[in-house]
This record gives sequence, structure tokens and C-alpha cells, in this order.
Amino acid sequence: MPESSIIAIGNELLRGFTVDTNSNWLAGRLFALGYPARVITVVGDTDEDIVAAIQDHTERQSLARILVCGGLGPTPDDRTYAAVGRALGRPLRYNRMIGAQMQNLMFARRIAGLRGTAELNAGNRKMAMLPEGAILLSNGHGMAPGLAFALDPDRYLFVLPGVPSELRSVFEQEIEPRFLLGSQADAVAELHYASAPESAFHDVMQALEREYPDVSLGSYPQTERRELILRATGPDPARVKAVLKAIRIRMTRYTPLEA
Ligand code: ATP
Ligand code: MG
Repeated sequence: MPESSIIAIGNELLRGFTVDTNSNWLAGRLFALGYPARVITVVGDTDEDIVAAIQDHTERQSLARILVCGGLGPTPDDRTYAAVGRALGRPLRYNRMIGAQMQNLMFARRIAGLRGTAELNAGNRKMAMLPEGAILLSNGHGMAPGLAFALDPDRYLFVLPGVPSELRSVFEQEIEPRFLLGSQADAVAELHYASAPESAFHDVMQALEREYPDVSLGSYPQTERRELILRATGPDPARVKAVLKAIRIRMTRYTPLEA
């Protein structure tokens, strides 16, 4: 199964001011589309860290889709286009079409009138300085475009805006239909227990791990609801179901809640 990865960029994420909801949302979508995330990296607005993360992920050949998000904006702390260019060895070029689109947006949103000029300022122009060879992904309401880069046959790196609504729109309108078809999501099945101690399941889970190496089995205590969730995922739905059935049979002391 093809794998994906996510690089989320922003000092606010590392400092605890903002919850990284983008990675969480992307991970859910990628799993559902059959490109489960293998790794998620969070870095700050530091050029060398962004470059290093991109190089690290692109060197891992098993990562077929790499999604980089955040830092496309007009301020100097937004460094993603430049860092992607450096990491991929692609110089930045001013994209006149994106510049023109931004000017149109400035008229449509009456920003030009407010500023008294339709000239793009330095911040706007920065958002049109794109690494060479980028495939442009339309960012509906936003100014900075999403980007796609072909790394190898059927291997891509994407650049997405950090604003959550823009990220979702670029993903759903552009990336999903063009770059994420043709895979199959893993099957998922769960057992829910009311106040069962996790440790009681140790031996059974260990045995099932050996018997079903193609099924990933995890235990997720929901401490607030006092519920224990056992979740199995894997490519073969019958094998995933079989693991849960085996747990029911081997753990007669605890009865799962009915779904
Ligand atoms: P902009 O053009 O608005 O600057 P951008 O692509 O540069 O967009 P950022 O500047 O990195 O994105 O972030 C824009 C907004 O989105 C900020 O409020 C930021 O905190 C939020 N944001 C960025 N990354 C994430 C994330 N991973 N999860 C949730 N919110 C995020
Ligand atoms: Mg930012």
C-alpha cells in the first residue's frame, strides 16, 4: 500500500499557541483514501529545519505522497516556497499568472481601493515567487497557490496553505481528485469495553500480533468516558474481523458493548 507523510510548519504549533489540526485532518483523509501517513513532522518557521524535514521525507522512497503545510503567506515568517525550492534544488521564479490573479483578487476584495493602489507590495510578490517546475493547485479563496511537484513516477510532494479552510479546499478540490485515486483504504473494526483494564488484554493481543502480522491492533483507553477501545486495521476486512472475533472468544471475562 502506498504511504504518505505530513510536514506541518509554524512556530505557533511548536510553542503551543495553535493545535495542529491540519495534520490530524489530513491524516484522517489520507487513511480513508488508502495513503496512510507513515510519519508526521512538525517544524518551526526556520529555513534549515523546513529544508531538512523535506529532504528527510523525500529520501524515504516508500513515501509516495508528501504534504507540506503552512507558511505560504506574505510575511517574512512564511518561508515554505523558498525552503521547498532549496530542498528540491529548484530556483524561485516570479510567476506572472499568480501575480495577476492576486491583483484581480485585490480589486474584487476592494483591497486596491483601500490601499490606493493595485500594485502588489513586497509581501504579495513573495507569494508569487515559486520554485521552478511546480504544478499549480488552485486555492479557491486564498491568494497563495498550492503546489505539486513530481519527484519520481507516481511520487509527489505537495505544498498547502496553513489556514485550515484553505488547506481543506486545496486538498479536496485539487489533490484528492488528481493525485490520490487508485488506492484502497484499510478496513477498520473496533471493540468497545466499559471499564475493562487494558493490561488484561496483553497476552491475547501479543498472540494475535503473531498470528495476524497483516493486522495492526491497538488499545486506546478513553479515560473520560471510562471506555476501552480496541481497534484493528488491515488490508483484508475478513482478517480484521477475525482478530476481533478472536478477542471476544479468548476474553470471556469481559463483554464488549454492543456497537
Ligand atoms: P497566510 O497566507 O494566511 O499567512 P499560510 O499558508 O502562510 O497562510 P500560516 O501563516 O502558516 O499559513 O498560518 C495561517 C493560519 O493558520 C494561522 O492562524 C495559523 O496558526 C493557522 N495554522 C497554520 N498551520 C496550522 C495547523 N497545522 N493546524 C491548525 N492551524 C494552523
Ligand atoms: Mg505560519
